[in-house]
Amino acid sequence: MTRRGIAIHEAGHAVASAVFKRPFSFVTIERFGRLLGHLELRGEPLPPSEEAIATWAGSVAQALLAASNVEHTANRGDYAYIERLANTIAGNDKRLVRALMDAWHNRAMSLVTEHAAAIERVAAALIARTTLTEADVIACMA
Ligand SMILES: [Zn+2]
Repeated sequence: MTRRGIAIHEAGHAVASAVFKRPFSFVTIERFGRLLGHLELRGEPLPPSEEAIATWAGSVAQALLAASNVEHTANRGDYAYIERLANTIAGNDKRLVRALMDAWHNRAMSLVTEHAAAIERVAAALIARTTLTEADVIACMA
């Protein structure tokens, strides 16, 4: 994955988190072990639907804004987390899990489309500075 692809992915998570007021300490595109980038959350998780949309926003931003490979390893962890969130609501009903994941994916597409310019600004700042605090991200979005 390109540095821009990673930056767009992490910017998607960061902007969606800011939209949902999901607190985080920082977002980075500095490589850490197997992770190509990372959003460090703090505080309590959001309700499952908002957690899932903020998680989908990474790979959705990559697909829509960076035309980047969404099947990358970095996205498998996100996908597994979204599936677990769906399981908390739908149990093991596979059709309902799939329907929830699809609905959350559609909402992430709307969010990324609506906030595309902000995601691009955050990604550009990540490429320039590697790591941004939550306050930096919010400043980029203004
Ligand atoms: Zn991700």
